[in-house]
Amino acid sequence: MTLSSTLYAKAQTLIPGGVNSPIRACRAVESEPLFIARAHGSKIVDVDGREYVDYVMSWGPMLLGHAHPVVHQAAKDALDAGSSFGAPCPAEVDLAQAICELMPAVEMVRMVNSGTEATMSALRLARGFTGRDLVVKFDGCYHGHADPFLAAAGSGVALIPTSFSQGVPKACVADTLVVPYNDLDALKTLFAEKGKDIAAIIVEPAPGNMGLVLPRPGFLEGLRALCDQYGSVLIFDEVITGFRWSLGGAQGRYGVRPDLTTLGKIIGAGFPVGAYGGRRDIMEKLSPCGPVFQAGTLSGNPVAMAAGLANLRELAKQDYAALEARTGAFAEELAAIVRSKGVPVQLNKVASAFTLYFTETPVTDMDSARTSDAKVYTAIYKQMREQGVYLASLGYECAFTSFAHTEEDLAKTLAAARALKL
Ligand SMILES: *Cc1c(COP(=O)(O)O)cnc(C)c1O
Repeated sequence: MTLSSTLYAKAQTLIPGGVNSPIRACRAVESEPLFIARAHGSKIVDVDGREYVDYVMSWGPMLLGHAHPVVHQAAKDALDAGSSFGAPCPAEVDLAQAICELMPAVEMVRMVNSGTEATMSALRLARGFTGRDLVVKFDGCYHGHADPFLAAAGSGVALIPTSFSQGVPKACVADTLVVPYNDLDALKTLFAEKGKDIAAIIVEPAPGNMGLVLPRPGFLEGLRALCDQYGSVLIFDEVITGFRWSLGGAQGRYGVRPDLTTLGKIIGAGFPVGAYGGRRDIMEKLSPCGPVFQAGTLSGNPVAMAAGLANLRELAKQDYAALEARTGAFAEELAAIVRSKGVPVQLNKVASAFTLYFTETPVTDMDSARTSDAKVYTAIYKQMREQGVYLASLGYECAFTSFAHTEEDLAKTLAAARALKL
């Protein structure tokens, strides 16, 4: 029995499912979780002393690699000055300025403690600003676990949303409309009917929670045009894409300007931080300037702010193009190896993120993502883990590289892939 198994058995008696976030339980890949002792650079080490090349990277935050010395020193220095004041501190102003400089569409920003808080607050603000209730989201996009986003729907333009979680009152998702990603025609039809009551469209500009899906040319521009036409607020959920697609996020890369942006993950460098920001006239509706309430005891936490600021400053010195080229070539080779074993593969990739889908169908939305063979992913997950490669415990996720991943790491991963029995 490994120490991970022992801990997992104990955890299951104390924590529901033994985990504090469901995907960590590894049930989709018919495995038990590894308990992690420490991490450095591109590697994580479990409590049994086994080291893995990490492609999860805490689900995205660790773009510089784990335990980056500059980020850690900034956090330690901040900690020595006290861990929380419940009052403004200099670092939150510096981090706000850094974000506004990197993302010109963000004219003002409010710090929160998670991506979930960022999206739920941004939606409240968009509703308060427009005086409307309806929100449009896309099938397969994930915006955290707040009630109004826990909705999915059947094919086409679905006007009768159903929640996919128990405990969400029907009323909480009654104003959530769900459309297939990349389907501008469905969206136009919906706006023609309900546009004047739609407060906001919220979208992952390139979804990373149905695996990685890329926007069709013109799709994001189409969202911008519809929001302009109907006076709705365009919210880019950049919790994954922010500072990864480019230093200026997906909006910088694709050149489409949202009204509001939500951030998380990389912005906190592994500490619990989220943020939302955007147009000044919208942001000034927030208390204490305006009538939309949102607050947080630990928001703008000095340790987290110091780490986040150091992270963004270090990221600004990195060569994003080189990492993208390296990651892209690596992902192509990985896909070729799996194909050579007789499995159909669709590769979606951008920046330092990619997903392999095991299907003949090009993947452009949730329905096509569902055609991927989950059994193949499970087999790959288990065998790669045996060989010291740590992949996401669900096929509908991105694999992430970081600036700490070396040629040696990638070569080791490809060697493990060549040894796969599928
Ligand atoms: C992870 C994620 C969230 C939720 O962030 P948490 O910090 O887990 O609450 C929201 N939106 C997107 C796009 C995400 O990937």
